[in-house]
Amino acid sequence: MSSAATPPLSVTARVPAKINLELMVGPLRADGYHHLATVFQAVGLHDDVSVEPAQDWGITVNGPYADLVPADGTNLAMRAARLLARTAGVDVPVHITIDKDIPVAAGMAGGSADAAGALLACDALWGLSSPRATLEDLAAELGSDVPFALLGGTAMGSGRGDRLAPVLGRGRYTWVFALGDQGLSTPEVYAECDRLRSGQRVPEPAPSAAMMTALRSGDAVSLGRALSNDLQPAALSLQPHLEEVLRTGLDNGALGGLVSGSGPTVAFLVSDTERSLDLAVALTASGVAPGVKRAVGPVRGAHLITAASGPRGSFVSTGNTGPSGPRSS
Ligand code: ATP
Repeated sequence: MSSAATPPLSVTARVPAKINLELMVGPLRADGYHHLATVFQAVGLHDDVSVEPAQDWGITVNGPYADLVPADGTNLAMRAARLLARTAGVDVPVHITIDKDIPVAAGMAGGSADAAGALLACDALWGLSSPRATLEDLAAELGSDVPFALLGGTAMGSGRGDRLAPVLGRGRYTWVFALGDQGLSTPEVYAECDRLRSGQRVPEPAPSAAMMTALRSGDAVSLGRALSNDLQPAALSLQPHLEEVLRTGLDNGALGGLVSGSGPTVAFLVSDTERSLDLAVALTASGVAPGVKRAVGPVRGAHLITAASGPRGSFVSTGNTGPSGPRSS
């Protein structure tokens, strides 16, 4: 076991991807942002973010998406670690290793998740025990989706998506994700949304009663009907083939489907694991999606899974990994 006197040599945090069950986008504001009303759900696709003391700041990204992620100071995990170091007055560089299973530029907030993981892991490595509110403030500074990656579960987001209120819903949902072959840039999708809506009066966004009722009841059929995303028309305009992906999913047993966040991932809700396998096979066989993943939600937010401590790096589990469902398929 590690003792209080032995600081860990490395710490690993596990972080989930998110989907937006509902995403309402308000009018473009003078500061270039939009007010949002959104319902996030954390789903069981995860990255693992490990940190260890090093001579210099550095980062390694592993996994199938590594080539798509910057391995330098622009990586959100690195920005998060340095922000915490600056804020806490820490002068110990770290090497960050990201084992990446969350698709990149896919509307699943993988970069934000890595930032949340780096905050949590560095906080533990440096023995800071920062108050939760401090980590949440730093998370909001790093990006609108980072606070939710810390919180996890199911939550309503307002403001820029960073003001969160947990939703005490019931139910555990089974999701199938049709991945895109080309990422979509979030700013470009918002710009397309503004272009498509120009001249229209856009109301201030508010969560729908149908979504709240569905989550309270835990009824997957109602949730499937309530899924909605104001960014979907913009994502479909930029990648028209996503229409066919949506149709294929809905024709093959999905209870509902929508573009996840800014896309291009399309998320389908199904009734159970067996249906998720059937749908994954149908999507793959139809050739409409270059990749398919399955996961359950909600799952917990960023949490520590291991700390290796002591001169020979004995391995200590710091908690159970939670109901993460299938890691990927
Ligand atoms: P958003 O959170 O804006 O919805 P997304 O989920 O669509 O984004 P991400 O996977 O977060 O997309 O990646 C967006 C871009 O951020 C990538 O193209 C990549 O260049 C950059 N990026 C920086 N750090 C990371 C990281 N740790 N993981 C993934 N992408 C990163």
